[in-house]
Amino acid sequence: MPGTIDIEALCQAKGLRITEQRRVIARVLSESQDHPDVEELHRRASAIDKGISIATVYRTVRLFEDAGILERHDFRDGRSRYEPTPEEHHDHLIDIESGEVIEFTDQRIEALQAEIAERLGYRLVDHRLELYGVKRKEQG
Ligand SMILES: [Zn+2]
Repeated sequence: MPGTIDIEALCQAKGLRITEQRRVIARVLSESQDHPDVEELHRRASAIDKGISIATVYRTVRLFEDAGILERHDFRDGRSRYEPTPEEHHDHLIDIESGEVIEFTDQRIEALQAEIAERLGYRLVDHRLELYGVKRKEQG
């Protein structure tokens, strides 16, 4: 789950130089329970430190992403979204009306994907699955 990962500690482990502004951005990312884009991250980070520019946020998320600390997602709304690289795999369902992102895992899907890869002569090492939906109207 997002929010349980200490990005600052990961930066130290990977030998990334951690400036005060990067520390603020790392903290905002660690505390985010959603999948914010750069503009949203900038809003949250600049609420803590007014001096943080959007360019700094862009550079920092790129740096974290290159280090494997962050995962970037493209949920088809033209904005890259970020979350700390999860320790446990999950997939996403995106509500295309509200933009809400719901995390889920399903062991049948996991097993089926491994089975398909094997049938095609591969050992599965990773996958991404995004479901796009609209909320069903209540019956009656
Ligand atoms: Zn997620």
